[in-house]
Amino acid sequence: MIGVIYDDAYLEHRPPRNHVENPGRAMAVIKSISDVAVIERPINDVDYWLLKVHDRDYVRWIDENCEMGDVFIDADTYVSPGTCRAARLAVGAVLSGVDKVLSGEWNAAYAVVRPPGHHVGRVGKALMAPTQGFCIFNNVVVGAVYALERGISRVAILDIDVHHGNGTQEIFYRDPRVLYVSLHQDPLTIYPGTGFIDDVGEGEGEGFNVNIPLPPFTADDAYMRALGNVVWPIIDEFKPQLILVSLGFDAHMLDSIANLRLSLNTYAHVFRRLRDMIGKVRGVVFALEGGYNSDVLSRGSRLLIDIMSNRDVEVNEGVTQTEPRVMARVNSIIKDVINVHRNYWHLA
Ligand SMILES: [Zn+2]
Repeated sequence: MIGVIYDDAYLEHRPPRNHVENPGRAMAVIKSISDVAVIERPINDVDYWLLKVHDRDYVRWIDENCEMGDVFIDADTYVSPGTCRAARLAVGAVLSGVDKVLSGEWNAAYAVVRPPGHHVGRVGKALMAPTQGFCIFNNVVVGAVYALERGISRVAILDIDVHHGNGTQEIFYRDPRVLYVSLHQDPLTIYPGTGFIDDVGEGEGEGFNVNIPLPPFTADDAYMRALGNVVWPIIDEFKPQLILVSLGFDAHMLDSIANLRLSLNTYAHVFRRLRDMIGKVRGVVFALEGGYNSDVLSRGSRLLIDIMSNRDVEVNEGVTQTEPRVMARVNSIIKDVINVHRNYWHLA
């Protein structure tokens, strides 16, 4: 079964002015699943684990900003008086999810959290990004570190948010215990401007960082081709014991801040594929990242719960088709990714 981890404290991370990343997002998710899901509260006390990932001075700086309250710490990212509690409980939700699946109580968990996390590195801004992209602490990264220290030796992080998870890449770039796979919109066309094919990891971590940058207007058919030709074969070969998913709904065609053309059919495909891996993996923990259309957040989250609960569901959207010019570009990108990663994985 899949369980949900959530806390009303996430609603207290509030923008000082209109902002796409606002409490309404979490409300839209919870409203759509509260009648079908078991909802539990996150772990409270996370600083020990937080400080294994983030620099002490960075955490202190965030805490100071919470005390000031209602400030922008960069052009995109705000901190309000409730942010520090929300951000710690966002980390706590992923830790709780990992606990639930490692204990065998659940086989999947959905951490319905905000603020999101995948753009934050050890000290805040990651790689060359101009901002932290609405993120405070890297929830999924702390979850992965927690699992590793609890005896898991291989964690896969699948990032289907439309943006590249530059923070996650940065932190695990030299770590072979964590496979990071990200599909995202071409960094030349969108924030954070990172996530190129040649970033394969370094040292011991070489080969364990997989970036699939997709051109604007990539639709379901092309995205699923990338999943089928690259993502699933690599994850299967890696044989993770635990899978963490950076779940962004902003690759959907109705999302206003990006330009991919996915329908919920792609999300349903991903959820089914991951569900079918349970047994081979100890569990799957989904953590909410982006997604700024509340209707998509609602329907997509409901779909996740239904599919992971083995309920038959209809996706009330047609499969989107990529126009030929864009498809040709995607095919050439897939070829490039395979050429680079053939050095590390058995890819056809
Ligand atoms: Zn995003």
